[in-house]
Amino acid sequence: MTDTRQTHIPIYSASQPQFRSYNLNNFRDIPQIARLTEQQQLDIEIVGNVLPFKVNNYVVDQLIDWDKVPNDPIFALTFPQRDMLSTEHYDEMAALLARGADKTEIKEVANRIRMQLNPHPAGQADHNVPEMDGERLHGMQHKYRQTILFFPSQGQTCHAYCTFCFRWPQFVGMTDIKFASREVEKLVEYVKRNPQITDILFTGGDPMIMSAKNLAAYIEPLLSADLPNLVNIRIGTKVLGYWPHKFVDDDDTQEMLALFRKVTDSGKQLALMAHFNHPRELENDTVRQAIRNLREANVMIRTQSPVMRHINDDPALWARMWEEQVKQGCVPYYMFLARDTGAQHYFSVPLVRAWQIFREAYQQVSGLARTVRGPSMSANPGKVQMLGVADAGGQKVMVMRFLQGRDPDWVQRPFFAAYDETATWIDELKPAFGEEKFFFEEELEQLFHERNDTSTADDFE
Ligand SMILES: *Cc1c(COP(=O)(O)O)cnc(C)c1O
Ligand code: SF4
Repeated sequence: MTDTRQTHIPIYSASQPQFRSYNLNNFRDIPQIARLTEQQQLDIEIVGNVLPFKVNNYVVDQLIDWDKVPNDPIFALTFPQRDMLSTEHYDEMAALLARGADKTEIKEVANRIRMQLNPHPAGQADHNVPEMDGERLHGMQHKYRQTILFFPSQGQTCHAYCTFCFRWPQFVGMTDIKFASREVEKLVEYVKRNPQITDILFTGGDPMIMSAKNLAAYIEPLLSADLPNLVNIRIGTKVLGYWPHKFVDDDDTQEMLALFRKVTDSGKQLALMAHFNHPRELENDTVRQAIRNLREANVMIRTQSPVMRHINDDPALWARMWEEQVKQGCVPYYMFLARDTGAQHYFSVPLVRAWQIFREAYQQVSGLARTVRGPSMSANPGKVQMLGVADAGGQKVMVMRFLQGRDPDWVQRPFFAAYDETATWIDELKPAFGEEKFFFEEELEQLFHERNDTSTADDFE
């Protein structure tokens, strides 16, 4: 059966650019790299031996403003920077490379440094893994009642790597991606047995790295199964930022859009949870056309990003980004805080500052862009929003609340932390008014009593 509407999808570009990927081994082939000094090129190599590095021709040719490099935000988003490592770690790796150390030795040192960057080592994803008939369902995480995360095994890389990404250990091969899954039958069965689940969120890596055929192998069974409780199929992705050609002029663009249309024709929603870090990612004809094509397939696009120094810590930039998203028919969804891992010291914005950025940006946009919530931390107890700074009977406090909680009962109860201008994460905050613990802490400890691991692998895409 053919769907005649697919033939109406406008194709923007006459010349299909081929995807070209660059990493540590071939980045000097990028023509624009010649504009960097030898030292800057060396910095990429030194830091890139520790943190993941992958970029592509679209990012290089369409997004990075090479006149502004090395201070360009998209350059900082994708290319390793000297200050992402401590001086000590940087010097150690620099010395190794300078004396021509062999691969094995470089890797050993790299792994030792990585271990000091809070990599959430293997096992960390374990405690949201659901069980069925006594079997642990690796490749899935079920933390919040309505939504199950699914990590398709073919979707565990990306079109480029973000230098801030908390999933970096899996990209440098430190974590076996043991929570990636091929088992869509088990997903179907689990969703069937858990009628409270309304949403499946495909995540990765980036699931949109998959071909239409591979993605269809996951999506089609969800449509043909009888799952009346399943309302939303969500896909967390950076593809609109890193390779919008996917929905414009790739070889299987038509097939992909037809697959999405099949979902929406079935009466379910297809939501692309699109990760945009900078307005520039929305401001060229390829991405505009990609968004139009998706919307013509009735795909709902919701947007999210962390707030990060060197990339987007500026209210005017956020206002411009949200406005541009609304203009193109996307729905702003979350502003996140950078996770405490990898080069977090380079990117992190204190909670109070993040709230100021959020507030100033929010004031500048119409109600249609005020669907966004944040700034929010995906932390162990849940998604915690910094609501603001308030004066409570002469005491300066930070007002917080759960947007999602491990216990749903925690959601939407404001709570108070002692004012701390430098805190960047919830574990640095102390309860206000001299109280010993936050209201949720005792229960959280009980929930984890039998496990000695308190880290998580939350999703922000
Ligand atoms: C963010 C997140 C979700 C989705 O939450 P929404 O608020 O519904 O977008 C689901 N599971 C985990 C583990 C998450 O971190
Ligand atoms: S943030 Fe998303 S696109 Fe960026 S490296 Fe991480 S998983 Fe990939």
